[in-house]
Amino acid sequence: MNAHDSERIAGLLEGMGFKKAPTYEPKLGEPGLTPADVVVLNTCAVREHADTRLYGTLGHLAGLKKKRPGMQIAVGGCLAQKDRTEILNRAPWVDVVFGTHNVGSLPVLLGRAAFSNQAQIEIMESLQAFPSELPVRRAAEHSAWVSISVGCNNTCSFCIVPSLRGKERDRKPSEILEEISALVADGVVEVTLLGQNVNSYGVEFGDKQAFSKLLIQCGKIEGLRRLRFTSPHPKDFTDDVIEAMARSQVVMPHLHMPLQSGSNAILQSMRRSYRREKYLSILEKVRAAIPGVAISTDIIVGFPGETEENFQETLDLVRAARFSTAYTFKYSKRPGTAAVSLEGHLSPEVVAERYQRLVALVDDVSLQENRKQIGETVEVMVGSKSGSKDGGRARLSGRARDNRLVHFSANGLEGDIEPGDLVRVAVSECSPFFLIADGAITSHVKTRTRFNAGLNEIDRSPNSAVNLGIPVFVGS
Ligand code: SF4
Repeated sequence: MNAHDSERIAGLLEGMGFKKAPTYEPKLGEPGLTPADVVVLNTCAVREHADTRLYGTLGHLAGLKKKRPGMQIAVGGCLAQKDRTEILNRAPWVDVVFGTHNVGSLPVLLGRAAFSNQAQIEIMESLQAFPSELPVRRAAEHSAWVSISVGCNNTCSFCIVPSLRGKERDRKPSEILEEISALVADGVVEVTLLGQNVNSYGVEFGDKQAFSKLLIQCGKIEGLRRLRFTSPHPKDFTDDVIEAMARSQVVMPHLHMPLQSGSNAILQSMRRSYRREKYLSILEKVRAAIPGVAISTDIIVGFPGETEENFQETLDLVRAARFSTAYTFKYSKRPGTAAVSLEGHLSPEVVAERYQRLVALVDDVSLQENRKQIGETVEVMVGSKSGSKDGGRARLSGRARDNRLVHFSANGLEGDIEPGDLVRVAVSECSPFFLIADGAITSHVKTRTRFNAGLNEIDRSPNSAVNLGIPVFVGS
């Protein structure tokens, strides 16, 4: 969600005539140098670490601003929404503070701050208009995020999001479909639908099946190759969504469904109103309906009151669920959340030790699951033109249909393969975090032909005309 907001911020700044400056990487003790005239920090408040990083980065920027007083610094996102005037108290050299609902005001606020030479703050308590109308500078040409809702009606006791992003607001399906069609016309072939809880989409206009209907409708948009979504909530996950995923050719066989804990007692204390049995039953249904589906998750370890027995239940569930990957987090206290006042906060040593054990198990399961892919041919959507070299071998990277990261040998075709292209390759090796495919590319589909010159479908199997050196033209 924040990364998508950053794209909107970049789009607004481009609209003002700014261009992207080289990446700024401050080093400890050095202010570093950036030619940027405006620096915007779009912050996250989900974990404590982000807090520390914001004020550390602002400290670095203070030295830079002394050298270049005309440079403007703006702080937006969830921490700005949470800390408000506190940011200006701690870093009075900041020019603009804007909340999660005020992204569109950034150009005006920067202008006012420059004109009046005074810091500007704008924080709205709730969303007035859906930010979809704002210009966007997409990070990738071929892939885009599309918000279907913002905010959340749940009250998970560890989570600060509802107090910063507000209650759930749903966009109309027609608006979402129009946006996706426009993106596809602009060369996008992969869309990820975004919402804090995509399964409750439709709650605002009273349609419990709105999300599954939306998946089906998106699948009818010609030119859209891949559709993903994040994040679902087990409490609201219904069978019609599984059916829509299974029926649609463009919904990818991947489900990222946050678990948070495998212990019912801890789930209750987290105010997550599903239980481990329900979570596992969803996985069972999804696996039965969608062959080859990969399931990934988020898990918090060391929640207040978590006993060794509770933790063992999480480990057991990880063993049973066979996650392709799991994002693991140490519980961190977030002021303003209900969990802060719970009893039984664990020592950092206990949390760190459990975290190590959880990560070791998650990696082991991921490795075992990835090994099953060796020898399989997978369809990879190429992510970027920049590759890596391993022993002189040029590799490009992309995502398989089930969202596994794949590094594949370009076999001399690196100049011809564009982001968004689909290649078919056989998996030869793996680690817990990615697959490697060092064999031949057996097919190569240019998905963005209207945008890239060249052939749109190239058979690269061993006896194909291309490999025998015969010129071939397929499609237009
Ligand atoms: S579902 Fe829970 S964790 Fe997710 S955004 Fe809502 S309150 Fe936070």
